[in-house]
Amino acid sequence: MNIEGKKISIIGAVRSGIGAAKLVKKLGGFPFVSDAGNKDKLADSIKILKELKLDYEVGVHSSKLFDCAVMIVSPGVPTNSPVVKTAIERNIKVISEVEFAALFCKGKIIAITGTNGKTTTTTLCGYVFNNCGKKTYTAGNIGNAFSEIALDVKEDEFVALEVSSFQLDFTETFKPAVSIILNITPDHLNRYDNKIENYIASKLKILKNQSSTDRVILNKDDKTLMNSIASFKTNAVYFSLSEVQANGIYCAGNDIILSKNSTSVFTCKKGDISLPGNHNLYNAMAVISAAKIFELDNKKIIEALGSFQGVEHRLEFVRELEGVKFINDSKATNVDSVWYALQSYDNSLFLILGGQDKGNDYNRIKDFVIEKVKKIYAIGSSADKVFNFFHKEVKVEITKKLEDAVLAASKEARQGDIVLLSPACASFDMFENYEHRGKVFKEAVNKL
Ligand code: ADP
Repeated sequence: MNIEGKKISIIGAVRSGIGAAKLVKKLGGFPFVSDAGNKDKLADSIKILKELKLDYEVGVHSSKLFDCAVMIVSPGVPTNSPVVKTAIERNIKVISEVEFAALFCKGKIIAITGTNGKTTTTTLCGYVFNNCGKKTYTAGNIGNAFSEIALDVKEDEFVALEVSSFQLDFTETFKPAVSIILNITPDHLNRYDNKIENYIASKLKILKNQSSTDRVILNKDDKTLMNSIASFKTNAVYFSLSEVQANGIYCAGNDIILSKNSTSVFTCKKGDISLPGNHNLYNAMAVISAAKIFELDNKKIIEALGSFQGVEHRLEFVRELEGVKFINDSKATNVDSVWYALQSYDNSLFLILGGQDKGNDYNRIKDFVIEKVKKIYAIGSSADKVFNFFHKEVKVEITKKLEDAVLAASKEARQGDIVLLSPACASFDMFENYEHRGKVFKEAVNKL
């Protein structure tokens, strides 16, 4: 795509939008950033846009927006939003920021999607590859926009790219060297007309343009994924916790084994992986598969899997106090990730649950709660829903504030217990975002 001298409109003035605008400018185009959001909330962005001397408007979408050759949309902009509809009606090419950045990236892209585990796997992938001597950038949904680094990546370098379904929505030619789909469970359905098939279709766009020389890494244990993938003829590597794979990676007892044509090319122990829980075995298996596609060194891979410290707010160990461990899993914003959190521990748990509900069905975690949880502290706007669902099975206390829940749990927990914040909900009813919620939790724990 030739950008030189062209007007490019960019919807959204946060990280992706600013990244895209900078890239347009570097490529000799004229970016115009438009964000209809609240001016006060966008104060940081406005400061950056001014500093970078980028043309922008905030608080409105004016008609100037449609005077462009291409419109680049940030992931926060739904496919059916009025600006997008109008642009399409006017025959303007509408693409996502990821699609745009990928057009200008010479390096090899390892694209990672899934309902849960994207950030952990992307970070782990970057960590393992770099440890094996392969220069690898991490970008995408993870926080730093792909557009910010796309031009820096050399041909023999890699990008571990976290892609959400929103970022895949407006892709056309996006064609990663390796794509990973970790899992698909219902989430964000409000953006997909409440239809899981629309959400799945969006996720599968990650491999739509891949050719026979590209590779795809898939979770064999995920039935939704396996059922939807049937029609794709791709060069797949499968990962499974239980099923032996002739071309893929699986667990057998305490071993993790990667086979190529039924011959083992990599083995390690489950205990070599620093992160807890089966979900992290999945994440690690996906990364090992990617590493072995590029024939990275087994010893170096294992070394990195063992020393990886995890990502903040994902089953993050905060502190041990009188034999009680406090774990921050604020990023668990849906029921499925709480299932994996509960699955990760054999100890008795004091669980802090609740926040902004997303139509949660708690049946998924009911058995684990009965088996492992001594008490639930229900927080946020969905506290009543949590109480009503669980109070017949387990003790439930509604606490107004997260800090109160921490204090109450710390008083009741005994040596060997775990106090776990894994809320299964969005945070926006009480906090700015999940990071803020995790920070408040950690501060409360550290004050004890
Ligand atoms: P994402 O970027 O997809 O939101 P994260 O790595 O940030 O994923 O993790 C989000 C939540 O999901 C955390 O609570 C984490 O412990 C949990 N999680 C991580 N990996 C997986 C997985 N493979 N399957 C299910 N849950 C997972």
